[in-house]
Amino acid sequence: MPKDSRDTRYDILFEPIRIGPKVAKNRFYQVPHCNGGGYRDPSAVAEMRRTKAEGGWGVIFTEQTEIHPTSEITPFIEQHLWEDRDIPALARMADAMKSHGALAGVQLAYSGVNGPNLYSREVPLAVSGGPILTFTADPVQARTIDREDIRDIRRWFRNAVRRSQTAGFDLVCFYGAHGFGILQHFLSRATNQRTDEYGGSLENRARFLREIVEDAREETKGALAVTLRLSLHEAGAMGFSNAELRDFIEMHGDLPDLWDLAHGTWEQCSGTSRFKPEAAQEDLVRGIKALTTRPVVGVGRFTSADEMVRQVRSGVLDFIGAARPSIADPFLPRKIEEGRFDDIRECIGCNICVSGDMTGGISRCTQNTAFMEEWRKGWHPDRVRPKGVSETVLVVGAGPTGLEAAMQLGRRGYRVTLAEASSALGGRVARERRLPGLSAWGRVADYRTGQITPMPNVEIYLESALTPEDVLSLGCEHVAIATGAEWRRDAVARFHLAPIPTDPALPVYTPDDLMAGQGPTGGRVMLYDDDHFYMGSVLAEMLVARGCAVDFVTPAAIVADWTRNTLEQPTIQRRLLEIGVTLHLSRAPLSVGPDRAILACTYTGSESVLAADAVVMVTSRLPKDGLYHAVRALDWPGAGIRSVKLIGDAAAPGPIAWATYAGRRYAEELDEPDRGDALSFRREIAELLPHVPLTPA
Ligand code: ADP
Ligand code: SF4
Repeated sequence: MPKDSRDTRYDILFEPIRIGPKVAKNRFYQVPHCNGGGYRDPSAVAEMRRTKAEGGWGVIFTEQTEIHPTSEITPFIEQHLWEDRDIPALARMADAMKSHGALAGVQLAYSGVNGPNLYSREVPLAVSGGPILTFTADPVQARTIDREDIRDIRRWFRNAVRRSQTAGFDLVCFYGAHGFGILQHFLSRATNQRTDEYGGSLENRARFLREIVEDAREETKGALAVTLRLSLHEAGAMGFSNAELRDFIEMHGDLPDLWDLAHGTWEQCSGTSRFKPEAAQEDLVRGIKALTTRPVVGVGRFTSADEMVRQVRSGVLDFIGAARPSIADPFLPRKIEEGRFDDIRECIGCNICVSGDMTGGISRCTQNTAFMEEWRKGWHPDRVRPKGVSETVLVVGAGPTGLEAAMQLGRRGYRVTLAEASSALGGRVARERRLPGLSAWGRVADYRTGQITPMPNVEIYLESALTPEDVLSLGCEHVAIATGAEWRRDAVARFHLAPIPTDPALPVYTPDDLMAGQGPTGGRVMLYDDDHFYMGSVLAEMLVARGCAVDFVTPAAIVADWTRNTLEQPTIQRRLLEIGVTLHLSRAPLSVGPDRAILACTYTGSESVLAADAVVMVTSRLPKDGLYHAVRALDWPGAGIRSVKLIGDAAAPGPIAWATYAGRRYAEELDEPDRGDALSFRREIAELLPHVPLTPA
């Protein structure tokens, strides 16, 4: 659709906006975001950013870029700009960002008291020394910087700015949000206890910021725009509060070319949809625009064009900042511009992308299966290669795996038959979306259903539980079996590798039972969680709402241990405590009797008795692969079938993102030549240097 046919309601989002010496073509601003690839996967990151350029973003940023080895946050994999040899990787990214007229920005970070330097082994340098403040509680302390150190850090920032300019960036952003950057450490009385001219009054605490902004302007002769990314509100009596931020902006409104504002900690800023709605930071940012002539950008997991317009029209924001919405749909701006609202793949707010960074893996996105595979596998968020030699594919099961497979196969041009046993599309997300706090997860099904329904080459059959004979008789050349998984009832997971003795007199339920509307509606319920992700705590909330007294038993030392990777763990534990759930940590049931469970401490083995009227086991899942094995046992080649594959949860149960990825992979690889033992993705290997002594600087 040409631009002049754009709905005029959204024109305001496409106005060019000046940022100091640069002009952004529109108000869509991809704020810095990590991706788990960083310096290890430079081309993968560059291609990922290119899709955002193609998708119409006006400004595109890198992830955190560490300016000096005295401050790095291993094990998290970000970017480095430590020496000139780091420039080419960043230049590749800047080129990709600018490929469709976006401005390219680099976020420069000096982590100070947040950087343990586990890789560089340098002594960490902090505004005020003390224990390193990280997610991993590293047993390391930082030294308090003196005036000479401050001069050094200013010079390192200046060097990084020069390298950024050489790499081709239009904007440099100094990082002082989320508690991660030294700018915030200077501003906050919690991390700045100095008594010299850099501590005490707000004017003093702001000195370093003024200096590095001035240095950057001088270094680039004003050619680059300079932005500040600051926390909207740091909690605690000594924290850099929203009121202080407002005072600071009032005093220094014209210091940067743009204010980029993000809530206090990363957990608060990137809350999941379970705990934070769209536009959750509005109260903290409203009114700040009046304090400055510079544009203001803020985030809020914005996926609704109407909400974006409201943010701008009501004077809250100038730019619509987005990290996760831009990951889930790099083409969000273009789809709004072209009026293709049904094609928008909305972020579901699950933070699986964040978990890629937290685990040192590479980030995935539940919704955008191409995320971080743009270069590694040549996948594109919205396009797939045309089909191969075959014509027809049967996909059995319409959960996230089957829906994604059917959608991508349909896009490739195959004739697809999608058979689903139940009366609804979506599989597990059709059920999980009804659980407390998980309604946004329904978007996984809604987007895919919306895409395949109009496709003439995809036929959908509901209430069609296929038998092995049905599969053979349907006459498709390829069969993908995506029949999902079911929760176990016997306590087997990580702690118990074999079933535990269970008295049939005590009712035992699984998450599937509860999602089907069964299970207790009162009395005392023991919920045993050896899954450690979201399901246990979500069901605990549901049981409390049903009137049950819930005893939450887990072998882990904290509830929902893995949700540390989705930044939810503290919120989940707080929520359970607040609603009256009793926690039994580092405990597992040894047996379940008629009215009780015998628990054992996972460290000492000491036993205790827990009275219970019912038990809910949130442990592990069994693949539903019976259909697959039954088909394989028949003469399927004789029926003209060329391949039968088991995919998604039916092969190996995992998070929803693993399921959508499996569907995409199946569709991408159909009719492709077998790669044998060759890697299924591209990767970069570090350049080997000759064995020569370290040269003087
Ligand atoms: P995944 O996450 O891998 O997509 P789900 O459990 O979400 O797995 O979805 C699997 C879907 O497969 C469910 O909707 C289920 O109803 C469907 N299904 C299971 N067995 C059959 C079958 N024999 N024929 C058709 N659909 C089936
Ligand atoms: Fe959104 Fe989840 Fe994708 Fe992250 S992984 S961008 S939170 S849908």
